[in-house]
Amino acid sequence: MQLLDGKALSKTIQKEIKTAVEQRIQEGKKRPHLAAILVGTDGASQTYVGHKVKMCKAVGFQSTLLQLESDTSQADLIKHIQQFNENEDIDGFIVQLPLPKHIDVNTITEAIDYQKDVDGFHPQNIGRMAQNSPCFLPATPAGILELLARNKIETSGKECVVIGRSNIVGRPMSLLLSRNNYPGNCTVTLCHSRTQDLAVHTRRADILVVALGKPEFITADMVKEGAVVVDVGITRVADASRKRGYRLAGDVKFDEVAPKCSYITPVPGGVGPMTVIMLLLNTLRASDKE
Ligand code: NAD
Repeated sequence: MQLLDGKALSKTIQKEIKTAVEQRIQEGKKRPHLAAILVGTDGASQTYVGHKVKMCKAVGFQSTLLQLESDTSQADLIKHIQQFNENEDIDGFIVQLPLPKHIDVNTITEAIDYQKDVDGFHPQNIGRMAQNSPCFLPATPAGILELLARNKIETSGKECVVIGRSNIVGRPMSLLLSRNNYPGNCTVTLCHSRTQDLAVHTRRADILVVALGKPEFITADMVKEGAVVVDVGITRVADASRKRGYRLAGDVKFDEVAPKCSYITPVPGGVGPMTVIMLLLNTLRASDKE
């Protein structure tokens, strides 16, 4: 069994981005600029955005964080988005999800200029992704592709099972792995909450991508010998033995599944660190469009 070490790979790519930024500056170009809009005070969202800002600094990007009150109206949020769309200094920006209930996420996603949509959630980017045309790929599935590619994992003709059909992970993952590309060319099955007898599907998987958000849901008996297992799930589970009172758990029961796998991602240190780095890569690409 080999670990798919997202932490190590993300550090490698971080250095590559930093070098590319330094080269841009030497060529007299401007620093890539990533902006983020955070609505409300959700603790996890604040942590995620804070980390993104920190990572921008680490690679030499400029960053802007716009924090809005949780009762900000949808119309006001759209006004801010339009300002970011028109601001030529901003190469790419994100609106941190989830949004407060009174705001419609699809309306907000569509208000973002798709050429600055470095989260890759705009229908233009999703449509282009489906067509295999140039676009911004959503960061988590893109990070998984990068993990597969840089570890030279064969995907062509493989049976791939994706669990979870969210717009940000499962569904784009299933599209990407079915494209005529490397990594891709898999025969993909997309499983979800209404799937009957899930284990029948998972046991056939050469590549199993798990993104449902249920800690340690996938057990050894559900996994094929020699499978590549990618665990996207991150859930805080109460743990009194830890200083912070919780631990991060994946969707896969790592200890019993890992011995059966050819490759597996740990949680933490697998998919998570790749997600932020792919957002930065998208922003670097957005700044190249100048
Ligand atoms: P989501 O809640 O939007 O979707 C969960 C999906 O799981 C749904 O499509 C649902 O149909 C499916 N599902 C639920 N119960 C099921 C069952 N019993 N059998 C089969 N399918 C079932 O989740 P999401 O936003 O895609 O996130 C999934 C997990 O990945 C969460 O733990 C989240 O924290 C994590 N995540 C991690 C990263 C990262 O960077 N590592 C990024 C995004 C999400």
